[in-house]
Amino acid sequence: MPELPEVETTKRGIEPYLKEQFIKKILIRNNKLRIPLNKNLTKEIINIDIKEIKRRAKYIIVDFINGYSVVIHLGMTGNLRVSKKIKYLKHDHIIFYLSSGNVLIYNDVRRFGLIQIYKTMESFFLLDNNGPDPFEKEANVDYFYDRIKNSNASIKSILLNNKIISGIGNIYASEILFATSISPTRLGKNISYDECKNILKESRKILKMAIKAGGTTLNDYFNTESKPGYFKIQLKVYGRDGEKCQNCKSNISKIIQNNRSTYLCKESQS
Ligand SMILES: [Zn+2]
Repeated sequence: MPELPEVETTKRGIEPYLKEQFIKKILIRNNKLRIPLNKNLTKEIINIDIKEIKRRAKYIIVDFINGYSVVIHLGMTGNLRVSKKIKYLKHDHIIFYLSSGNVLIYNDVRRFGLIQIYKTMESFFLLDNNGPDPFEKEANVDYFYDRIKNSNASIKSILLNNKIISGIGNIYASEILFATSISPTRLGKNISYDECKNILKESRKILKMAIKAGGTTLNDYFNTESKPGYFKIQLKVYGRDGEKCQNCKSNISKIIQNNRSTYLCKESQS
């Protein structure tokens, strides 16, 4: 499942091919996505210059100079690639023909992703429901502490709650809590102000490291015959149950919280 670093890497991978371009045509091969592409608005973005490509949480946003935007979410298995020649792979669902002659291809095996066109000034409900991601200035300690100080939810589920903080997925939630020595089962109301500060700091540090690791795959977004691969940083706890903790040499455990796997060291995290 693409997490924030993969989405940022995808954005950086396709950005050079969208800059100073416009879309000539959109081909919808299969519109059965989580939310089908709103075809009625495609006329608003055809032949309009692209202004900017941004990322917010796990959304890629393409802004056009006329005040319309396209928002893309990769869901569980979505990916984007740019190609010179048009040769479709299985699960290539939506194709954007660019003025350069390249095509931008949206591929999604499980079709939990979405592509929506909306008027930039108007709100887009999925983005509005999102809290800030760790890199946005709104994600400061006061905000975070205030949002969780009365919470009876576990800190692990708080980190996965996009309404509070967005862009942290299951893998990095385990890694962030390990880095801060906080047990994933501790409740939000029992997390101190200083620990909130540390959580935000480690979130940025770990996500930044992962984005940097993704830099090595940037070439995979253009003219490949296959889908761009996901990458991983050296994970310290995620997927390592039974292995030795790097801090204390006891074994890493796996527990299930809200139907999701959490990895932790019960000795180093409390
Ligand atoms: Zn340990």
